[in-house]
Parts: sequence; structure tokens; C-alpha cells
Amino acid sequence: HAKELGKSSYKFFTNELNLKVSERFTLQAELRDALEKEEFALYYQPQFELHTNSIVGVEALIRWHHPDRGVILPGRFMPVVEDTDLIIPLGYWVLKKACEDGKRLVEEGFPLKIAVNISAKQLSSENFLQRLKDILNETGFSPEYLEMEITESVLMKNKQQAADILRELKKLGISIAIDDFGTSYSSLNYLKYFPVDKLKIDRSFIGDVISDPNDVAIATTIIAIAHNLGLRATAEGVETEEQLIFLKLWQCDEAQGFYFSPPVTLDSLIDMLKSENFKIKGV
Ligand code: C2E
Ligand code: MG
Ligand code: MG
Ligand code: MG
Repeated sequence: HAKELGKSSYKFFTNELNLKVSERFTLQAELRDALEKEEFALYYQPQFELHTNSIVGVEALIRWHHPDRGVILPGRFMPVVEDTDLIIPLGYWVLKKACEDGKRLVEEGFPLKIAVNISAKQLSSENFLQRLKDILNETGFSPEYLEMEITESVLMKNKQQAADILRELKKLGISIAIDDFGTSYSSLNYLKYFPVDKLKIDRSFIGDVISDPNDVAIATTIIAIAHNLGLRATAEGVETEEQLIFLKLWQCDEAQGFYFSPPVTLDSLIDMLKSENFKIKGV
């Protein structure tokens, strides 16, 4: 029994990456360096509206172009970043880059929404709204094209503060999506208080949605909750035509996933949009 206890507390005190203290320390230093050297990049994954078969937005996803190790995915470094104050400068770097790229898309004739992942620490950091407004001013990006993806845990940490911030974001014209919906320990109660526009069905519920009755129940229930509250539902991680047909049948509003496109560089995205293989809503 003591052994079990030891095990679980060990698990509790290490982060998802299971790095040794020294490894974390090295990684933190490397990440700080990488930010200075501009080794980070944003990739964009298209989001499709299912009933019009058209692209309505893109999600910005960070990558680290490591000089020796190549492209590193956020799962390998974001948990460490989010554990440190580095999330603040990196978060603003992401926001600014996304607004610059979004501006370019609008100028190229592609008025798409850009969805940016915002972490808890950043949303509740000092001057968040002022810094955001500065970025919008500096880049000239119109906030109606900006969406923020926030996880449930972000909202549950300090409900009053989160509600105030979200209301201010809405006033600016920014839309709000709840990311990884259904994966964390939170009550549905908060949906009444927060001005949310969209629920994103986590890909862990989509992968086996064709064969697993539990995933069918969860995915269709999330779509129903969204619609009953007047919100949109987006499915993430759509990889097959069968999953797409299922989601259309259940009137899921939007989807993204490898079936449509992986996250790509801005230039590849623009090439894709120009190739006219994809319909763009309103264009
Ligand atoms: P997320 O926001 O839930 O993003 C969805 C993840 O699913 C992305 O992983 C995306 O590449 C991946 N994905 C998309 N379609 C498919 C598919 O069809 N199949 C599979 N298997 N995967 C798919 P990625 O890019 O590795 O990002 C992982 C997580 O890292 C994100 O989860 C998000 O929580 C975080 N993240 C990424 N970029 C940022 C950022 O700029 N800021 C913050 N704070 N977090 C970020
Ligand atoms: Mg996301
Ligand atoms: Mg997600
Ligand atoms: Mg997810």
C-alpha cells in the first residue's frame, strides 16, 4: 500500500513530460534562448464549416524549429513553458504573429478567423487586455477575425476574473471557443455564466466515434449541448470520411483534422487557398 501511495505522489509531483529536474532546467534555458532567436513558428490548420463545405477559419499551432533536432511539437515543450513565466512572452509572441498572419490573409483576399490557444497563466496575467489591445493596434488586425481557444480548467481557476475578461473580449468582437471540451473535471454550470461561442469536441472522442458507442454518446451529446445553448460545435481530429459523414449527420457545425489538412505553414496555407480546391466562406 505504501508503495502505491509513493507511486501516486511521485506522479503528482512530476509534470506530464516526466522530465528530471536537471532536464527541465536545461529545457527552460533552451526555450528562453529559442524565443530570442525566433526559433518558434506558427502553423495553421483549416477549420471547415460542414453544411457549406467551406473553410471558415484556421487554428494557429506552435512549433519549435530546433537547429539540431528539427521540428518539435508543442506537447514536448508547452507543459514546461506553461509551468514557467516564459508562457507570458511566448504567449504574446504567438498572439502577435497570429494577428500579423491573419492580417496578411485578409489582405490576400482570405477573410478567415484565426483561432489562437490561450493558456491560463496568460489570460489571468496582469495587463492581458491592454497588451491584447496594443497588439491589435500595432498589427491592424480586426478583432472580429480573432478567436481565442481556452480550456475549461482556465475558466474554473478564478471564475469571476475569467468571466470579466471574457466579457471584455466579447466587447472587442473576439470570439471564444472552449477547447478540449469534456476532458477536464468541471461542471457544465459555467456555460451559463461565460459568453462562449463554440465548443470544441476533443479528438479523444472523435477517433473511435464510428465504432465506440460511448464516444457516439459523448460526441452527439456535446453537439446537442452546444446547439441547445445557441453555440456552435467543432470536432477536432477528424481523420476519416466516415467520421465526417457521422458528424454531418449529427449536424456538427465545423470540423478540423488530418482528413482535411494537417497544420501547415502560412505560405502553404495561402497556396492551398489559392489553388481553389477549397471553398472559402464569403469569397
Ligand atoms: P489543441 O489546441 O487541442 O490542438 C489540436 C491538436 O491536435 C494539434 O496538436 C493538432 O496538430 C492535432 N491534430 C489536428 N488534427 C488532427 C488529427 O486529425 N489527428 C491527430 N491525431 N491530431 C490532430 P499540436 O499542434 O501538437 O498541439 C498540441 C496542443 O498544444 C494543442 O492542443 C494546444 O493545447 C497546445 N498548443 C499548440 N499551440 C499552442 C499555442 O500557441 N499556445 C498555447 N498556449 N498552446 C498551444
Ligand atoms: Mg486548440
Ligand atoms: Mg483542442
Ligand atoms: Mg485537444
